[in-house]
Amino acid sequence: MSNRVEKITRVGVFTSGGDSPGMNAAIRAVVRTALYKDKKVTGIYHGYQGMIDNTMFDMDSQSVSSIIQMGGTVLKTARCMEFKTTEGRAKAYEHVRTAGIDALVAIGGDGTFTGAEIFSREFNIPVMCIPGTIDNDLNGTDLTIGYDTANNTVIEAIDKIRDTAASHNRLFFIEVMGRDSGCIALNAGVAGGAEAILLPERETAIDELIDMLEQAADRKKSSMIVIVAEGDKNGGANNVARCVQEKVGYYDTKVSILGHLQRGGAPSSADRVLATRMGYAAVNELLKGNTRATVGVRGSEIVTTPLEEALSKKELKLNEDLVEIAKIMAL
Ligand code: ADP
Repeated sequence: MSNRVEKITRVGVFTSGGDSPGMNAAIRAVVRTALYKDKKVTGIYHGYQGMIDNTMFDMDSQSVSSIIQMGGTVLKTARCMEFKTTEGRAKAYEHVRTAGIDALVAIGGDGTFTGAEIFSREFNIPVMCIPGTIDNDLNGTDLTIGYDTANNTVIEAIDKIRDTAASHNRLFFIEVMGRDSGCIALNAGVAGGAEAILLPERETAIDELIDMLEQAADRKKSSMIVIVAEGDKNGGANNVARCVQEKVGYYDTKVSILGHLQRGGAPSSADRVLATRMGYAAVNELLKGNTRATVGVRGSEIVTTPLEEALSKKELKLNEDLVEIAKIMAL
């Protein structure tokens, strides 16, 4: 146990990197758990940038009233290049120290985790991370906060596009978020009944895709939907649609790029509960002496994983069974 841990009197909390629905529920859980444990709480605006700019404030129970249902993050978020420098982090630590913060809870993705790990080692300050990203691309957890909500947003869009696609016998290419991770594409593709799903983790040749679509057309499908993850190697939905159109002119193809709407919206019930459990666990773990780790969920259990381990593993998270099932369901 770090000797710093015994002296925790004030916890600092911030959100950083890409926002995701459910971050507010996590902030609320951190604040209320810490207050319940007689700790003081400082909210830090704009992630690491707020540490450098010293934009911090005292939080009480009311500071997090009526935010559990809100998307985005009330603490705001930012990408901060200065924090990647030794001087930037020294400035950040000076403000953290002056504010009396002796432990930090960081909510964000792998960039945020990397910054937290470095900062914690450099200044021997206890840190616990909470995985908040729609991409579900972090090690140390089966699920990240925001992933479930983003999937629900995407299938709502697919359902609506399906209505118009079926009315006109159209072929739609829908681009969803996921530069390196095909989790949203695969999950929402299965849930939305997509005819084909293009993933960053797989190379799909255009000819192979056309074969699949022609077979589906032969089976008299009235509409066809192809989900394209933004990181697909063919260069995104516009490119894929153009290539398909060039080779088989008779499809009436349309493209829809869902973009940032996938990041917003009220968090789903699952994300609110996950975020609340993780926020609660993050504070309790810090107070138990656990540090430089991330909370996560494995099955139904909340677990922690050292940041070093979570950041070093690059395991493939794609659910292979689901890839196979998706193909069979498109028959
Ligand atoms: P996410 O947390 O969603 O992956 P980013 O990759 O943008 O988002 O990371 C968020 C922030 O974390 C960065 O803007 C930067 O301030 C900090 N960060 C990322 N990588 C490092 C690093 N190697 N050293 C220090 N800070 C880092």
